[in-house]
Order: sequence, then C-alpha cells, then structure tokens
Amino acid sequence: MLCKDFLDKQLSDLKKFSTGITALDLRILLAHVLGIEASEVYFLKCELSNNQIDQFNTLLKKRINHCPTDKIIGHKGFYKYEFMVDENVLSPRPDTEVLVEVSSALIASENIDNILEFGVGSGCIVLSLLADNPNLTATGIDISNKALAVAKTNAVNLGVAQRIKFINASWFDNNIEAKINGHYDLIISNPPYIPSAEIDNLDDEVKCFDPRIALDGGTDGLRDYRQIVKLSSNLLNDGGLLIFEIGEMQKNDVVNIAAKQKLSLVNVLRDLSGTERCIILKK
Ligand code: GLN
Repeated sequence: MLCKDFLDKQLSDLKKFSTGITALDLRILLAHVLGIEASEVYFLKCELSNNQIDQFNTLLKKRINHCPTDKIIGHKGFYKYEFMVDENVLSPRPDTEVLVEVSSALIASENIDNILEFGVGSGCIVLSLLADNPNLTATGIDISNKALAVAKTNAVNLGVAQRIKFINASWFDNNIEAKINGHYDLIISNPPYIPSAEIDNLDDEVKCFDPRIALDGGTDGLRDYRQIVKLSSNLLNDGGLLIFEIGEMQKNDVVNIAAKQKLSLVNVLRDLSGTERCIILKK
C-alpha cells in the first residue's frame, strides 16, 4: 500500500474512536519510521514493508496511550528551528511562538545584546532568540538539571552554545540574584502558570507527559509571576522589558502584580488561536 493510502486508512480507522490524533501526527510518525521529512510522506511512491508497518504501529500505540508525538520521536519543530525534547521538558507549543517573534524583533530593533530567561526547559525560547540574533548573549536559569541537559544539546545543535550561560537553580533560592549577577534590557519567561488544582483536568498528553514543575504555578497559578516580577524589578535596567507567556484570563492579575513592583504594561499579544498569550512589561 502506498504511504498516502496507508495514512488515509489509519486516519479513518482512528476517527471511529475520536482519539484526537491528527493526520499530521500520523504523517510525523510515519516520516520518523522512514527517516524522511513529514512533508515528503504524501509524495512517496513506494510500498511500505511489513517491518515499516510494524514500526509505525509500535509508535502509534504510544500515541494512542496519549504520549505526544514530539516525545515519541524525540524532537519538535518550533518557530524556525528544531528542538530535541524528552520527558524532562515541556513540549514546545505553537502558542509560545508569539513570544519569540516579538522578542526577536525587539532585540534587533533596540540593539539588545544580553538577555535573561527564567525557566529554560528545552531552550526553545532563548535558543531561538540566540539563533536569530548572532550578536546576542544570554543567561538561562532552570531548576531541573535534566532539562538543562536537553537545552545544552539544543544549544550545540543550533550552534549557539558559546553564547549562553546556564544556571541550575530555583528562582526562589535566597541567593539567586547573586548567582545571576547581571543587569538586563530584556528578561523573558514562560513560567509554570496552571493553578495546582487544575492540573488534574488537563489533557493526558499534558498532565502525564509534561513535567509537573513546568506547569504548576501554585494555588492561584500566579506564584512564579510574583517571584519573577520581584527579581526582574531589580535585574532590569531602567527602561528594560519583561516579556511573559501568560495563561488564559491571567492578564489583569499579572499586570497588577507588575504594577506593585513599578513595572508598567506596554503591550499584550495574542497567540495563533487568538488567546492573549504574551505580555510585555517595562521598568
Ligand atoms: N501552555 C501550557 C498549557 O496550557 C502551560 C505552560 C505553562 O504552564 N507555562 O498546558
């Protein structure tokens, strides 16, 4: 059976069970088995071998058990680049790309040469900014050494490892400002922001496969914003920018938290699905 017909049949079988698995998921899994790009699958004119079909079925079983496609194949395209991912990092979301787009443009237009990120994870945000801006350097903080190992691999793969310093620490550590030891014109973060009690209601793909520490923002989901805003009010230069990803309906709360530390709202941007997702604050 040709790849295209095989995938069409798989998809129509899956639709009967409303699994939420998309045609793109199937194409990416089959491309992984065949060692080609997902975009090439539909144009391939050869038959699949039994061995290839078995390999595909093994991957599909994982996906049916709710493992996200990127964590099955070990990498994900985000913004303009490809990132290695594993169980220790939050899967990069298309929703987050708006943060990178706006920050990269600001870095270029304002000639910003050094930035700080709270919560590196896979590195998809800060490393994209480094890859876009060849004169930029960065510091990235993450509590998870295992996540930093992934970010370091991604930094090497993107050829930006020489321009980033990683700090393995919690932003709640008493001496965190001394460890960071610098001042910045731009600080960026996609912190954990889901209220603890809501984690159980998330899709299995998220709650079972993203690290809980990357999701859980405490009782009201705002715990990490409070701390990062407090630190940023000291670490930013006058006129410096703090750029956050926010969850749905969190804009007003985050603006209020920032106002208490004398940071004012500059702009709010929406993600690809029209949700207010990115907030820009200024010292
Ligand atoms: N956007 C992610 C989600 O909705 C959460 C990421 C985060 O807490 N920073 O699952």
